[in-house]
Amino acid sequence: QIAELINGEIPLEEWPAEFFEVDDNIRKPGLLLNSQTAQGEALKAALARGFKETLAEIDKSGLRGRGGAGFKTAMKWRFCAEEQQVERYVVCNADEGEPGTFKDRVLLNSFAHQVFEGMTLCAAIIGAKQGFLYLRGEYLHLHGKLQATLAERRASGLLGTGILGGAVDFDIEIRLGAGAYICGEESALIESLEGKSGIPRNRPPYPVTSGYLGRPTVVNNVETFYAASAIAVHGGDWFAASGTEKSQGSKILSISGDCAKPGIYEYPFGTTIRAILEDCGASDVLGVQVGGPSGTFISDQEFDRKLAFEDLATGGSFIVFNGNRDILAIAHNFTHFFAHESCGFCTPCRVGTSLLRNQLDKITGGHGSAGDVVALEEICRLIKTNSHCGLGQTAANPVLTTLERYPERYQSRLKKISFEPGFDLDGALE
Ligand code: NAD
Ligand code: SF4
Repeated sequence: QIAELINGEIPLEEWPAEFFEVDDNIRKPGLLLNSQTAQGEALKAALARGFKETLAEIDKSGLRGRGGAGFKTAMKWRFCAEEQQVERYVVCNADEGEPGTFKDRVLLNSFAHQVFEGMTLCAAIIGAKQGFLYLRGEYLHLHGKLQATLAERRASGLLGTGILGGAVDFDIEIRLGAGAYICGEESALIESLEGKSGIPRNRPPYPVTSGYLGRPTVVNNVETFYAASAIAVHGGDWFAASGTEKSQGSKILSISGDCAKPGIYEYPFGTTIRAILEDCGASDVLGVQVGGPSGTFISDQEFDRKLAFEDLATGGSFIVFNGNRDILAIAHNFTHFFAHESCGFCTPCRVGTSLLRNQLDKITGGHGSAGDVVALEEICRLIKTNSHCGLGQTAANPVLTTLERYPERYQSRLKKISFEPGFDLDGALE
């Protein structure tokens, strides 16, 4: 039956419930996962402190967006609050599609109250009345549970009109994605929320200025809202006390691949890749894909590098590959992924990702020449510099980062040309 499920012969809605009974597998909780707060605690703390003062605490905490890019959260919320338009929106990006990332699924499965509380806190600060949780289509199994959590919050006065007897009115609606990776890009997500195809918009204007229905909108990752609710309770200094100067606090990772203990880990920023590999029981490691296919493949020479926005940033994906893995097969797999997920809107990405896929098919199949590797690099450059959105701009990363570190592995795959003794090569070329 698993083959039927995976081959798409059985629609997702009809998959057996036990298939989704996945253990959260939290192996190493840290600052945030150890600091679970009670329902309503963050909102009560914010009401007592004042919403302006709570924003100042979030600013002091140094919290940066946990989707991967690391934009300052307090700055984003302030920009949105300062917009002149009356209607504003809060959107939680739960379209967790980066291969190797599953920490948002765990946060939504076990800590949804805190995520919704972070969204409500944001709404109170920026003056929004409506929020959306944009849930990855493949997380359909969480839909019922999340709806029940929202209903519970409404019944407890934590959502709806006059939250906690105060002046804040806010509610959250869950919208389901339909399986497109591009809808994790915030402007494509907003298009999808508006009922249109998920095609990324030009940015700027950023969503804080012109988002859902053209109104100021805060879009943040699940983990960012979760962290904001903890900061409202424990304060900015509590969070800023760990991490590095430029990357405060901790990061929740989804660790998978060739390691004895895959699962969810939380580390203060500044932790070395080596320390993480020791914790998850990885040995004979060839390299690690940090930040998923759109991130960086690092080799065993770089394990003293650090988890941090200023060194190795990740939305949460951390995939370990051991020495038995074929580096070209890894790049090949990720390249096929991007060619499949390109939304097709702009030519450099639509055509470029397919060319890249075909070129890598040729080289990994042993039919490439040295000229094909040069062409491969040229295609990468074209896609990276001419694509409309982040998908295209990062689609060449698996090839570029592996080619830079392991050129000999690409070279060794090229077609071997041999000539009969006495063959006149110069004459043939003329
Ligand atoms: P970005 O740097 O363009 O923007 C980051 C955030 O800051 C956005 O919300 C944007 O609106 C905001 N922003 C940036 N400049 C602004 C300004 N001047 N004024 C107001 N707001 C501003 O990054 P991005 O293209 O939105 O996201 C790319 C990241 O997403 C990458 O780091 C990638 O690793 C990550 N990613 C994550 C997943 C996942 O599943 N979590 C999947 C794919 C990609
Ligand atoms: Fe679509 Fe790719 Fe262009 Fe982005 S870069 S708009 S995903 S075709």
